[in-house]
Amino acid sequence: MLVTGDQQLLRQINRMVLVRKLLSESELSRADLAEAVGLTKSTVSLLVRELVEEGWFSESELVVTGSLGRRPTPLHIDGARLALLGADLGIDEIRIVATNLLGEVLEHHVVPYENVNNVSACLKLLAKAMVRVARKLITQQRTILGIGVGMHGGVDESAGVLHFAPNLGWKNVNAAEQLRNHFLATPLADLPLFVQNEADVAALAEFEFSAQSGADPLIYLSIGYGVGAGVVVRDSLLTGYRGFAGEVGHTILQANGPLCSCGRRGCAEAVIGLGNLLGKVGKSMPERRQALQTLFEQVQSGVASRTAAVEVAGRNLGVLLNNLWVAFDPMRIVLGGPAMQLGDAFLSPALAVLKEYSTVAQLPAPLIQTTGYGEDAVAIGAAALVRYHLTRPLTYQNQPSTGTRHD
Ligand SMILES: [Zn+2]
Repeated sequence: MLVTGDQQLLRQINRMVLVRKLLSESELSRADLAEAVGLTKSTVSLLVRELVEEGWFSESELVVTGSLGRRPTPLHIDGARLALLGADLGIDEIRIVATNLLGEVLEHHVVPYENVNNVSACLKLLAKAMVRVARKLITQQRTILGIGVGMHGGVDESAGVLHFAPNLGWKNVNAAEQLRNHFLATPLADLPLFVQNEADVAALAEFEFSAQSGADPLIYLSIGYGVGAGVVVRDSLLTGYRGFAGEVGHTILQANGPLCSCGRRGCAEAVIGLGNLLGKVGKSMPERRQALQTLFEQVQSGVASRTAAVEVAGRNLGVLLNNLWVAFDPMRIVLGGPAMQLGDAFLSPALAVLKEYSTVAQLPAPLIQTTGYGEDAVAIGAAALVRYHLTRPLTYQNQPSTGTRHD
């Protein structure tokens, strides 16, 4: 009955309001929570009891003071009983993590591809590895809340479809459906499953889990072979009409500039991305990896032709940062992706250009940081994607095809 459904949804909304309150502010009592979120004390007590039983919350020991009697018991987010499973279906390999509710990594696995040209085989490999991690978590008495997967291309999250991953050559892949089929009759069957673009999930890692979580608007700019951004505005991931929001790698920085993989000329990706710095290299994974390693080493040892090219790319990055700044007025822009290994040779020119724009415009530029999650930013972000959705049941409810709802 519709009424029942609404009541369940309302209950779940109220429960997750309490969870999010406690995520943002630890050590609140039931009375504090009731006052903060505007629910009655009896409702809060009831919901807190459920959340403690299910592993979301834990309670501190009762504090008994002489004349005052029992003080209210502080509640905490429980890091010990629940788990979020996240994966990066990467360009070179698969990375899988499990985190607790606070984003602390419990499990970390890297799985090399066997045949990157066969996307179905890659998804099967991913599913098998995730099931192995799930079984391990279960032996540790953890309950898994859901599964997130970050993918390197345009993703229609509600349909669970990867439209196009240019650096892998994968097109129109019904990733969620294939993964769900592999999860049948395993501990991961029927769990909520979310797929999303890699920069989007990496933005959520920063937004949900990092020490400065809650910066809003927040932009995560991922720079590797591809260039893309994840944008969080007013507590929501900006996905756009077709799921392509944040594809800032294809904004034009140079009219009639170098040809981009998308067909346009002068895209940010064509002048900033690693493909531009590497020039012509073989398409095979070992060849690309070797070329990238050589590039990083030569930049580090100061080979002039390399550092000059990296500086030009860095200055172009500064232009892109300026454009993102004026388009979104973000509180923070976090940089990540393999290009971070170029270090200051790449980032210093970018920051200098941004400072020049800031000076002449007489406006303070947003804070620019590099991610603290390194190569695991996408996998950890995929785990953050699960928490992001589960703790916002109203938006999750509006995505009926994303999986079985978890009540
Ligand atoms: Zn392009």
